[in-house]
Amino acid sequence: MWLVVALVWLASTADARAEPSGRLAVVVHPARLSVGDVGWLHVRGAGDAATVEGSVGERSLTFFRYAGGHAAVVGIDLETRPGTLPWRVATLGPGREPRIAHGRVKVSGRSFPVQRLTLPERMVDLEPETERRAVAETERLRMLFRTISGERLWRGRFTRPVAGTEPGTGFGARRIINGRPRMPHSGIDFSAGSGTPVVAANAGRVALVAHFFFPGRLVAIDHGLGLYTLYFHLEHAIVTEDERVGRGQTIGAVGATGRATGPHLHFAAQVGSARIDPAGLLGLSFRD
Ligand SMILES: [Zn+2]
Repeated sequence: MWLVVALVWLASTADARAEPSGRLAVVVHPARLSVGDVGWLHVRGAGDAATVEGSVGERSLTFFRYAGGHAAVVGIDLETRPGTLPWRVATLGPGREPRIAHGRVKVSGRSFPVQRLTLPERMVDLEPETERRAVAETERLRMLFRTISGERLWRGRFTRPVAGTEPGTGFGARRIINGRPRMPHSGIDFSAGSGTPVVAANAGRVALVAHFFFPGRLVAIDHGLGLYTLYFHLEHAIVTEDERVGRGQTIGAVGATGRATGPHLHFAAQVGSARIDPAGLLGLSFRD
């Protein structure tokens, strides 16, 4: 027992100094994740010049330098089956043996509201041309989320995209319309009047400004390393594609464009292809 304690102590001393011979230390934050959560892995002891790569479940991670080590944001998609997910981290440094660490992280279930709606068929069954348009637009967004740009543009905390204190609602709501299940609601809705300024949640690059059938006028911001935030149903956008934006910078105004019953902001976030609860993103605390 004491021998084990002593060995762990020696190992953690080595980690703190990030000695070349140090043990690889990997911590998953938070230790328990739920469906729809965003978390992060902190790797210490890899060495300054090391290349770090890894995965959680089927999703690969993109690491950046953070707090004397390396970190990667992980998203637990909205439709992940609860259980445990394996994680794996590998480091490769100049003049060193490759090192591998692995473990498991528990993913708890989360109950989402189910909304059963009955609507006139004409509001549900789209014209074939409209259906094709909506499918193509969804695919365009999917393609965008598969684009992992190599530079981390965000820093520190993420900020609410609209002023106020009311939490956004509706993440994960399962909608069954006329008996047929539809896509779960993958963002949160903030109620706000038309024309209310919408701001960038963090620094990034405007990746898409468009007018799509369901989302209406939209802005997508690429924060780098696979992290995206989305702003739907805008009355208008005042940014253009490729423009760099800062946290809190106005990007447009709340509206009711696309399929919306009234003015509100639909705010969503993606880590690669994982649809995460943006409320979790607002709760992340990175020092820089
Ligand atoms: Zn919404």
